[in-house]
Amino acid sequence: MRLDRSAIEAAVRTAYTDHRNDSGGKNAGYIPYLASVNPDLFGVCAMTADGALFEAGDTGFEFALESISKVFSMAWAMEKVGLETFQEKVGADPTGEPFNSVISVALHGDTPVSPLVNAGAMSTVSLIPGDTAEDKWEAILQVQSAFAGRKISLSDEVNDSEQSTNFHNRAIAWLLYSGGTMYSDPMEACDVYTRQCSTLVTARDLAAMGASIANRGINPLTGDRVVSAANIPAMLAEMTMEGMYTASGDWAYRVGLPGKSGVGGGILAIMPGKLAIAGFAPPLDEVGNSVKAQRAVAQVAAALGLSIYKAS
Ligand code: GLN
Repeated sequence: MRLDRSAIEAAVRTAYTDHRNDSGGKNAGYIPYLASVNPDLFGVCAMTADGALFEAGDTGFEFALESISKVFSMAWAMEKVGLETFQEKVGADPTGEPFNSVISVALHGDTPVSPLVNAGAMSTVSLIPGDTAEDKWEAILQVQSAFAGRKISLSDEVNDSEQSTNFHNRAIAWLLYSGGTMYSDPMEACDVYTRQCSTLVTARDLAAMGASIANRGINPLTGDRVVSAANIPAMLAEMTMEGMYTASGDWAYRVGLPGKSGVGGGILAIMPGKLAIAGFAPPLDEVGNSVKAQRAVAQVAAALGLSIYKAS
Protein backbone atom coordinates (compact mmCIF):
# COMPACT_ATOMS: atom_id res chain seq x y z
CA MET A 1 0.00 0.00 0.00
CA ARG A 2 1.19 3.50 -0.80
CA LEU A 3 2.18 5.51 2.24
CA ASP A 4 -0.08 8.49 1.67
CA ARG A 5 -1.50 10.66 4.43
CA SER A 6 -5.07 9.47 4.19
CA ALA A 7 -3.90 5.85 4.42
CA ILE A 8 -1.89 6.60 7.58
CA GLU A 9 -4.79 8.50 9.10
CA ALA A 10 -7.21 5.66 8.36
CA ALA A 11 -4.79 3.02 9.70
CA VAL A 12 -4.30 4.89 12.99
CA ARG A 13 -8.02 5.53 13.48
CA THR A 14 -8.99 1.93 12.64
CA ALA A 15 -6.33 0.46 14.93
CA TYR A 16 -7.66 2.64 17.74
CA THR A 17 -11.32 1.76 17.23
CA ASP A 18 -10.60 -1.94 16.65
CA HIS A 19 -8.68 -2.29 19.92
CA ARG A 20 -10.10 0.32 22.27
CA ASN A 21 -12.35 -2.22 23.98
CA ASP A 22 -9.83 -5.08 24.10
CA SER A 23 -9.31 -6.52 27.54
CA GLY A 24 -6.44 -8.52 29.00
CA GLY A 25 -3.14 -7.73 30.64
CA LYS A 26 -2.36 -5.96 33.89
CA ASN A 27 -0.63 -2.71 34.81
CA ALA A 28 2.95 -3.23 36.01
CA GLY A 29 2.52 -4.01 39.69
CA TYR A 30 6.09 -3.85 40.98
CA ILE A 31 6.29 -0.04 40.70
CA PRO A 32 3.48 1.37 42.87
CA TYR A 33 2.88 4.44 40.67
CA LEU A 34 2.38 2.35 37.53
CA ALA A 35 -0.13 0.12 39.27
CA SER A 36 -2.28 3.19 39.95
CA VAL A 37 -2.54 4.53 36.36
CA ASN A 38 -6.01 4.30 34.75
CA PRO A 39 -5.89 1.00 32.80
CA ASP A 40 -8.45 2.21 30.24
CA LEU A 41 -6.20 4.90 28.77
CA PHE A 42 -5.33 4.14 25.15
CA GLY A 43 -3.70 6.22 22.42
CA VAL A 44 -2.26 5.53 18.98
CA CYS A 45 -0.05 7.89 16.95
CA ALA A 46 2.05 7.88 13.84
CA MET A 47 4.52 10.51 12.72
CA THR A 48 6.14 10.55 9.31
CA ALA A 49 9.86 11.16 8.90
CA ASP A 50 8.92 14.68 7.74
CA GLY A 51 6.88 15.40 10.86
CA ALA A 52 3.21 14.86 9.94
CA LEU A 53 1.29 13.62 12.98
CA PHE A 54 -1.72 11.27 13.01
CA GLU A 55 -3.41 10.40 16.28
CA ALA A 56 -6.39 8.75 17.93
CA GLY A 57 -7.41 8.37 21.58
CA ASP A 58 -5.49 9.49 24.66
CA THR A 59 -2.44 10.76 22.82
CA GLY A 60 -1.91 13.78 25.11
CA PHE A 61 -1.80 11.82 28.37
CA GLU A 62 1.64 11.87 30.04
CA PHE A 63 2.93 8.46 31.08
CA ALA A 64 6.25 7.12 32.33
CA LEU A 65 8.78 6.52 29.55
CA GLU A 66 10.36 3.58 31.41
CA SER A 67 12.38 1.19 29.28
CA ILE A 68 11.91 3.16 26.09
CA SER A 69 14.40 5.61 27.67
CA LYS A 70 17.08 2.97 27.06
CA VAL A 71 17.04 3.74 23.33
CA PHE A 72 17.90 7.42 23.86
CA SER A 73 20.60 6.83 26.46
CA MET A 74 22.09 4.22 24.14
CA ALA A 75 22.07 6.83 21.36
CA TRP A 76 23.92 9.31 23.55
CA ALA A 77 26.46 6.82 24.85
CA MET A 78 27.21 5.64 21.30
CA GLU A 79 27.62 9.24 20.26
CA LYS A 80 30.04 9.94 23.07
CA VAL A 81 32.21 6.78 23.17
CA GLY A 82 31.84 5.60 19.56
CA LEU A 83 30.05 2.57 18.19
CA GLU A 84 32.88 0.10 18.54
CA THR A 85 33.72 0.95 22.13
CA PHE A 86 30.04 0.92 23.01
CA GLN A 87 29.55 -2.55 21.53
CA GLU A 88 32.65 -3.87 23.22
CA LYS A 89 31.79 -2.45 26.66
CA VAL A 90 28.01 -2.93 26.78
CA GLY A 91 27.35 -5.54 24.11
CA ALA A 92 24.83 -6.00 21.36
CA ASP A 93 23.34 -9.46 21.66
CA PRO A 94 19.85 -10.67 22.41
CA THR A 95 19.72 -11.98 25.98
CA GLY A 96 16.71 -14.30 25.69
CA GLU A 97 15.97 -13.25 29.27
CA PRO A 98 13.32 -11.04 30.89
CA PHE A 99 14.21 -7.32 30.99
CA ASN A 100 15.23 -7.41 34.65
CA SER A 101 17.07 -10.72 34.56
CA VAL A 102 20.15 -11.19 36.71
CA ILE A 103 20.96 -14.47 35.00
CA SER A 104 23.01 -13.26 32.06
CA VAL A 105 25.00 -10.92 34.30
CA ALA A 106 25.45 -13.36 37.15
CA LEU A 107 26.37 -16.35 35.01
CA HIS A 108 28.52 -14.68 32.42
CA GLY A 109 30.05 -11.96 34.54
CA ASP A 110 32.13 -9.93 32.19
CA THR A 111 30.22 -10.86 29.03
CA PRO A 112 28.71 -7.72 27.52
CA VAL A 113 24.93 -7.49 27.53
CA SER A 114 22.27 -5.70 25.51
CA PRO A 115 21.75 -1.98 26.25
CA LEU A 116 17.99 -2.54 26.05
CA VAL A 117 17.62 -4.65 29.20
CA ASN A 118 18.06 -3.22 32.69
CA ALA A 119 21.60 -4.55 33.13
CA GLY A 120 22.93 -3.16 29.85
CA ALA A 121 20.98 0.07 30.32
CA MET A 122 22.72 0.74 33.65
CA SER A 123 26.05 -0.14 32.10
CA THR A 124 25.17 2.35 29.32
CA VAL A 125 24.42 5.10 31.84
CA SER A 126 27.75 4.41 33.54
CA LEU A 127 29.51 5.10 30.21
CA ILE A 128 27.85 8.49 29.66
CA PRO A 129 30.43 11.20 30.34
CA GLY A 130 29.91 13.45 33.35
CA ASP A 131 31.79 14.21 36.55
CA THR A 132 28.71 13.81 38.70
CA ALA A 133 25.37 12.02 38.59
CA GLU A 134 23.77 15.42 37.88
CA ASP A 135 25.94 15.93 34.78
CA LYS A 136 24.92 12.55 33.36
CA TRP A 137 21.31 13.17 34.24
CA GLU A 138 21.25 16.60 32.56
CA ALA A 139 22.73 15.06 29.39
CA ILE A 140 20.10 12.30 29.34
CA LEU A 141 17.24 14.73 29.92
CA GLN A 142 18.51 16.93 27.12
CA VAL A 143 18.77 13.98 24.77
CA GLN A 144 15.21 12.84 25.54
CA SER A 145 14.00 16.43 24.98
CA ALA A 146 15.92 16.77 21.70
CA PHE A 147 14.36 13.56 20.35
CA ALA A 148 10.87 14.67 21.43
CA GLY A 149 11.24 18.26 20.23
CA ARG A 150 10.00 19.68 23.52
CA LYS A 151 11.27 19.86 27.08
CA ILE A 152 10.83 16.49 28.78
CA SER A 153 10.69 16.52 32.59
CA LEU A 154 11.13 14.14 35.45
CA SER A 155 8.04 13.11 37.40
CA ASP A 156 9.01 13.28 41.07
CA GLU A 157 6.08 11.03 41.85
CA VAL A 158 7.20 8.27 39.46
CA ASN A 159 10.83 8.68 40.46
CA ASP A 160 10.11 8.47 44.19
CA SER A 161 7.98 5.41 43.58
CA GLU A 162 10.77 3.71 41.61
CA GLN A 163 13.72 4.82 43.75
CA SER A 164 12.08 3.44 46.88
CA THR A 165 11.40 0.03 45.30
CA ASN A 166 14.34 -0.54 42.90
CA PHE A 167 16.26 -3.06 45.05
CA HIS A 168 16.40 -5.57 42.21
CA ASN A 169 18.08 -3.08 39.88
CA ARG A 170 20.54 -2.10 42.61
CA ALA A 171 21.52 -5.76 42.89
CA ILE A 172 22.03 -5.96 39.12
CA ALA A 173 24.21 -2.82 39.27
CA TRP A 174 26.49 -4.46 41.85
CA LEU A 175 26.69 -7.66 39.79
CA LEU A 176 27.76 -5.59 36.79
CA TYR A 177 30.37 -3.90 38.94
CA SER A 178 31.78 -7.19 40.14
CA GLY A 179 31.79 -8.50 36.56
CA GLY A 180 33.62 -5.44 35.17
CA THR A 181 30.87 -3.95 33.00
CA MET A 182 29.95 -1.03 35.27
CA TYR A 183 32.05 2.01 34.39
CA SER A 184 31.07 4.41 37.18
CA ASP A 185 29.82 4.14 40.72
CA PRO A 186 27.10 1.44 40.50
CA MET A 187 24.59 3.16 42.78
CA GLU A 188 25.02 6.41 40.86
CA ALA A 189 24.33 4.61 37.57
CA CYS A 190 21.28 2.90 39.07
CA ASP A 191 19.99 6.23 40.40
CA VAL A 192 20.38 7.99 37.04
CA TYR A 193 18.93 4.98 35.16
CA THR A 194 15.90 5.06 37.49
CA ARG A 195 15.44 8.78 36.78
CA GLN A 196 15.66 8.28 33.02
CA CYS A 197 12.76 5.78 33.31
CA SER A 198 10.72 8.26 35.37
CA THR A 199 10.28 11.04 32.83
CA LEU A 200 6.83 11.72 31.39
CA VAL A 201 5.95 11.58 27.71
CA THR A 202 2.78 11.49 25.65
CA ALA A 203 2.13 9.13 22.75
CA ARG A 204 2.71 12.19 20.55
CA ASP A 205 6.15 12.70 22.11
CA LEU A 206 6.93 9.05 21.56
CA ALA A 207 5.95 9.34 17.90
CA ALA A 208 8.21 12.40 17.54
CA MET A 209 11.09 10.60 19.27
CA GLY A 210 10.61 7.72 16.83
CA ALA A 211 10.26 10.03 13.84
CA SER A 212 13.67 11.48 14.74
CA ILE A 213 15.09 7.96 14.41
CA ALA A 214 13.09 7.27 11.22
CA ASN A 215 14.43 10.58 9.85
CA ARG A 216 18.02 9.31 10.29
CA GLY A 217 18.74 11.32 13.41
CA ILE A 218 17.17 14.69 12.58
CA ASN A 219 14.10 15.70 14.59
CA PRO A 220 11.55 16.60 11.88
CA LEU A 221 9.77 19.07 14.21
CA THR A 222 12.81 21.13 15.18
CA GLY A 223 15.19 20.37 12.30
CA ASP A 224 17.91 19.62 14.86
CA ARG A 225 20.28 16.71 14.45
CA VAL A 226 19.89 14.65 17.63
CA VAL A 227 22.15 11.70 16.84
CA SER A 228 24.62 10.85 14.07
CA ALA A 229 23.05 9.13 11.09
CA ALA A 230 25.88 6.59 11.32
CA ASN A 231 24.55 5.32 14.68
CA ILE A 232 20.96 4.81 13.56
CA PRO A 233 21.43 1.31 12.04
CA ALA A 234 22.96 0.02 15.28
CA MET A 235 20.06 1.49 17.28
CA LEU A 236 17.54 -0.16 14.97
CA ALA A 237 19.43 -3.46 15.12
CA GLU A 238 19.34 -3.39 18.93
CA MET A 239 15.62 -2.60 18.92
CA THR A 240 15.04 -5.57 16.63
CA MET A 241 17.07 -7.94 18.79
CA GLU A 242 15.93 -6.90 22.25
CA GLY A 243 13.36 -4.08 22.08
CA MET A 244 10.38 -6.26 22.95
CA TYR A 245 12.35 -8.45 25.40
CA THR A 246 11.65 -12.17 25.09
CA ALA A 247 8.96 -11.40 22.50
CA SER A 248 11.46 -9.64 20.21
CA GLY A 249 11.78 -12.61 17.84
CA ASP A 250 8.03 -13.06 17.62
CA TRP A 251 7.61 -9.31 16.99
CA ALA A 252 10.26 -9.31 14.25
CA TYR A 253 8.63 -12.34 12.63
CA ARG A 254 5.07 -11.00 12.77
CA VAL A 255 5.49 -7.22 12.55
CA GLY A 256 8.91 -6.71 10.99
CA LEU A 257 9.67 -3.30 12.50
CA PRO A 258 12.32 -2.43 15.11
CA GLY A 259 10.35 -1.74 18.30
CA LYS A 260 10.73 -0.79 21.94
CA SER A 261 8.36 -1.15 24.82
CA GLY A 262 8.23 0.17 28.37
CA VAL A 263 6.38 -1.03 31.46
CA GLY A 264 4.58 2.34 31.55
CA GLY A 265 2.54 0.96 28.63
CA GLY A 266 4.30 2.71 25.74
CA ILE A 267 5.41 1.01 22.52
CA LEU A 268 7.36 2.54 19.67
CA ALA A 269 8.05 1.02 16.25
CA ILE A 270 10.13 2.49 13.44
CA MET A 271 10.04 2.12 9.67
CA PRO A 272 13.42 3.63 8.76
CA GLY A 273 13.21 6.58 6.40
CA LYS A 274 9.43 6.66 6.56
CA LEU A 275 7.45 6.57 9.78
CA ALA A 276 7.24 5.97 13.52
CA ILE A 277 4.23 4.35 15.14
CA ALA A 278 3.58 4.84 18.87
CA GLY A 279 0.98 3.30 21.15
CA PHE A 280 0.13 3.66 24.82
CA ALA A 281 -2.09 1.53 27.07
CA PRO A 282 -1.02 0.53 30.61
CA PRO A 283 -2.05 -3.15 30.90
CA LEU A 284 0.91 -5.41 30.02
CA ASP A 285 1.25 -9.04 28.97
CA GLU A 286 3.46 -11.45 30.93
CA VAL A 287 6.59 -10.37 29.02
CA GLY A 288 6.03 -6.70 29.98
CA ASN A 289 4.70 -5.34 26.67
CA SER A 290 1.44 -3.35 26.47
CA VAL A 291 -1.35 -5.61 25.22
CA LYS A 292 -3.39 -3.01 23.35
CA ALA A 293 -0.49 -0.86 22.17
CA GLN A 294 1.22 -3.92 20.69
CA ARG A 295 -1.88 -4.88 18.76
CA ALA A 296 -2.56 -1.34 17.57
CA VAL A 297 1.02 -0.68 16.44
CA ALA A 298 1.17 -4.06 14.67
CA GLN A 299 -2.13 -3.32 12.95
CA VAL A 300 -0.98 0.10 11.68
CA ALA A 301 2.22 -1.47 10.33
CA ALA A 302 0.30 -4.26 8.58
CA ALA A 303 -2.32 -1.89 7.14
CA LEU A 304 0.43 0.25 5.62
CA GLY A 305 2.43 -2.75 4.41
CA LEU A 306 5.44 -1.69 6.50
CA SER A 307 8.19 -4.17 7.37
CA ILE A 308 11.94 -3.83 7.10
CA TYR A 309 11.99 -7.35 5.67
CA LYS A 310 9.75 -6.53 2.69
CA ALA A 311 11.06 -4.73 -0.36
CA SER A 312 9.33 -1.36 -0.51
N1 GLN B 1 12.14 1.28 35.41
C1 GLN B 1 11.76 -0.05 35.00
C2 GLN B 1 12.71 -1.06 35.60
O1 GLN B 1 13.87 -0.78 35.71
C3 GLN B 1 11.76 -0.13 33.50
C4 GLN B 1 11.50 -1.51 32.99
C5 GLN B 1 10.77 -1.59 31.69
O2 GLN B 1 10.12 -0.65 31.23
N2 GLN B 1 10.77 -2.75 31.10
O3 GLN B 1 12.33 -2.12 35.99
